[in-house]
Amino acid sequence: MHCPFCNEIETKVIDSRLVGEGRQVRRRRECIVCGERFTTYEVAELVMPRVIKRNGVRQPFDEEKLRQSMRRALQKRLVTTEQFEEAVLRVKHELRTTGEREVSSQMIGEVVMDELRKLDQVAYVRFASVYRSFQDVKAFNTEIKKLQKSAKQALDIEDSQ
Ligand SMILES: [Zn+2]
Repeated sequence: MHCPFCNEIETKVIDSRLVGEGRQVRRRRECIVCGERFTTYEVAELVMPRVIKRNGVRQPFDEEKLRQSMRRALQKRLVTTEQFEEAVLRVKHELRTTGEREVSSQMIGEVVMDELRKLDQVAYVRFASVYRSFQDVKAFNTEIKKLQKSAKQALDIEDSQ
């Protein structure tokens, strides 16, 4: 692969490892001319289902859009690039394994929410508040209470072990 810095044709792989639960290969590369290092991710290209928007319009799946909405929710949160990439992969994996050729944007939202909930609760609430556009304060509070309850249950489990 060409060096993104100086465009040299030859770059060498200095490290290669499996990430994203084995669904992705992460490679560190070094340019043999300018010496700059960069990272590439290799994933199998599988067909993503098309997206049915709320207004019924069908669109191709847009990974950049997915990333943007997740990134926005995770802004300034302590989540590593690797954790982020793995969450994106899991969302995509989940959508592909539905076996459906088309999925609703609503379903994608639910899958993203599930991933964010596991990753970072603040990000989850941010995403959910935009996505579900909580009709009123009551709905929002109900969601917060659910989170607190599951956090408490997690603590109880830790205590009992
Ligand atoms: Zn270079």
